[in-house]
Amino acid sequence: STYTECPPTREEIGTSTWSLLHSMAAWYPTSPTANDQKLMTGFMQALARFYPCTWCATDFQQNIELNPPKTETRDDLCIWLCEQHNVVNQKLGKPLFQCSIDKLDERWRKSTDPKCQK
Ligand code: FAD
Repeated sequence: STYTECPPTREEIGTSTWSLLHSMAAWYPTSPTANDQKLMTGFMQALARFYPCTWCATDFQQNIELNPPKTETRDDLCIWLCEQHNVVNQKLGKPLFQCSIDKLDERWRKSTDPKCQK
């Protein structure tokens, strides 16, 4: 076979997952319905249950039990998720991200950097 693509590494799954999660938060409704909130909480719980790295998933489950998803507004969700990512960053010795809505939108929703204009 000429099929040479390899399964994703833990790091690749990590960056892909964070891209999806921060983008979902960035585009989450400003005023979500009760059902939106329920679905987003369930999504995070399912991710923590099925995340494809067993010990990452175990830690994420414990973190969201201690600090359940904040789904009442877009800003709440973006900042909650940023804090969850920082818990993992700290564990891995990576730099922490400043969790303000302006910094998060610049990174995940609407950058003003000319190199990001497509
Ligand atoms: P990533 O951490 O993947 O970050 C990608 C980009 O997000 C960064 O370049 C930066 O621009 C931006 N960013 C960084 N921090 C924040 C933040 N706080 N808020 C918003 N944006 C930010 N790996 C393990 O080895 N052990 C684990 O236990 C583990 N647990 C994980 C749990 C979850 C739920 C997820 C999604 C991933 C987990 N990972 C874990 C993977 C790990 O977090 C990284 O994705 C991986 O190490 C690759 O890191 P990276 O340096 O490429 O950047």
